[in-house]
Amino acid sequence: MADYDYDVLVIGAGPGGYVAAIRAAQLGLKTACADGRATLGGTCLNVGCIPSKAMLHASEYYDAAANGAMAKMGIDVTPKLNLPAMHAQRIDAVKGLTGGIEFLFKKNKVDWLKGYAAFTGKDSVEVAGKTYRAKNIIIATGSSVTPLPGVDVDNDKQIIVDSTGALELAKVPGHMVVIGGGVIGLELGSVWRRLGTKVTCVEFLDQILPGMDADVRKDANRIFKKQGIEFKLKTKVTGAVVKGKKAVLTLEPAAGGEAETLEADVVLVSIGRRPHTDGLALDKAGLAVNARGQIETDHDFSTQVPGIWAIGDVIPGPMLAHKAEDEGIACAENIAGQTGIVNHDVIPSVVYTWPEIAGVGLTEEQAKEKGEVKVGKFPMAGNSRAKTNHEPDGFVKIIADAKTDRVLGVWCIASVAGTMIAQAAQAMEFGATSEDIAYTCHAHPTHSEAIKEAAMAVTGKPIHV
Ligand code: FAD
Ligand code: NAD
Repeated sequence: MADYDYDVLVIGAGPGGYVAAIRAAQLGLKTACADGRATLGGTCLNVGCIPSKAMLHASEYYDAAANGAMAKMGIDVTPKLNLPAMHAQRIDAVKGLTGGIEFLFKKNKVDWLKGYAAFTGKDSVEVAGKTYRAKNIIIATGSSVTPLPGVDVDNDKQIIVDSTGALELAKVPGHMVVIGGGVIGLELGSVWRRLGTKVTCVEFLDQILPGMDADVRKDANRIFKKQGIEFKLKTKVTGAVVKGKKAVLTLEPAAGGEAETLEADVVLVSIGRRPHTDGLALDKAGLAVNARGQIETDHDFSTQVPGIWAIGDVIPGPMLAHKAEDEGIACAENIAGQTGIVNHDVIPSVVYTWPEIAGVGLTEEQAKEKGEVKVGKFPMAGNSRAKTNHEPDGFVKIIADAKTDRVLGVWCIASVAGTMIAQAAQAMEFGATSEDIAYTCHAHPTHSEAIKEAAMAVTGKPIHV
């Protein structure tokens, strides 16, 4: 090691960084991970995936009690919301999981350098006033909220908030305006809608959930509307001012036209996230970002500077925790001389609403651009388990190559779509055809049988529809 302090120094302890650090240490490399947050786990564990799922899960129970879903099953209850207790279980989940990463660091002998890192050279960084040299440096600094000009977030005031503020609201707002009909807007909008808030979602495009299959986007819109979320599509917010305890938003048609105003108790700004490289002093390492602010890497996650690597939200690709984790493992393995690979064509994405929305691979539109396809679709209303559980909404759709039958994409809306999609991802990873899925025995009665039936529908032969 000569004069190096570490074989691997990871900057950022989110799901990309902490996983990379643990894998590097497992492979026998002397490893440190720098992060200035009070707890490890990055956006995902502290203010992202985990706290949002804690609120989604709890509010789902409340909603089931309040909207008659429990009564349908013979359970008559009148729920009473204890919001402080709901927040307490969220905080508890975060504490448990972030503490778990600290335990794993100790167990694997990863040094946590407490502070934000800045490059001082190609193989050195400064953290909390001390300089460290490392043979390999992995940048895993993640992403932060994309600001909307004219709509200033102040999470402390709890009127115009970002996702972090929306997770922590001390009282249930009367009216919430969500700017952006993407994943965060729909998940956190759903949380507060379930607890009694009137939610209006303003989306710039002509449909919510861009990037997903068109059938999914359309059906999701219908389902959320039925649940009470109001959508203002093809509309942009041009500004918001706080007046007393309310915000007044100015809206305009996306294509231009007459402005209108809208009053809200809370405004959630959720128009996307952008790569975070502030304060890193990338220039000192000889690195630059691309036009989208991302750090470009090769397939092995090496940057243009030898010895510097990058993974997760800060590099191109979907901003998802599991993508960051897999890149962390592959990157550490590549540093150790192994062959770490991530198949970016098979990265599932899930929206944890009710029902859940999940997809992997190509949308029907993308697949058709590449060639001829066959599509099989099966409604959840035809699935015995979903029907029995009073969950009729949604469908599974399988898109296969017309000539080879190889599965190119799978999309589902179903109560447990996030769990169902794992089988589709694995099948695609193994190069499965729709026939392979159709002739795989699926346990009965499970929601996953809808995947088998959708595969059977590719050749026009589902049974239960
Ligand atoms: P991050 O998790 O952002 O971690 C980066 C870390 O780097 C941070 O802790 C930061 O403090 C640290 N850092 C930054 N600069 C420096 C520096 N100079 N020195 C040292 N440390 C630094 N994804 C999913 O897959 N599923 C979900 O359900 C999901 N839900 C989400 C819900 C919300 C509300 C949000 C906001 C995001 C959600 N995401 C979800 C996205 C997910 O959180 C990110 O894709 C994931 O956290 C990216 O991991 P990362 O390691 O690249 O970066
Ligand atoms: P997003 O990209 O999912 O959605 C942003 C939406 O805002 C888009 O529909 C976009 O068209 C719209 N928009 C952009 N500018 C607008 C404007 N001026 N007015 C109105 N609408 C506008 O972004 P997000 O929901 O903020 O989430 C950020 C990232 O976090 C996503 O990339 C996502 O991958 C990740 N995330 C994932 C999960 C999950 O996996 N379940 C959950 C939360 C967040």
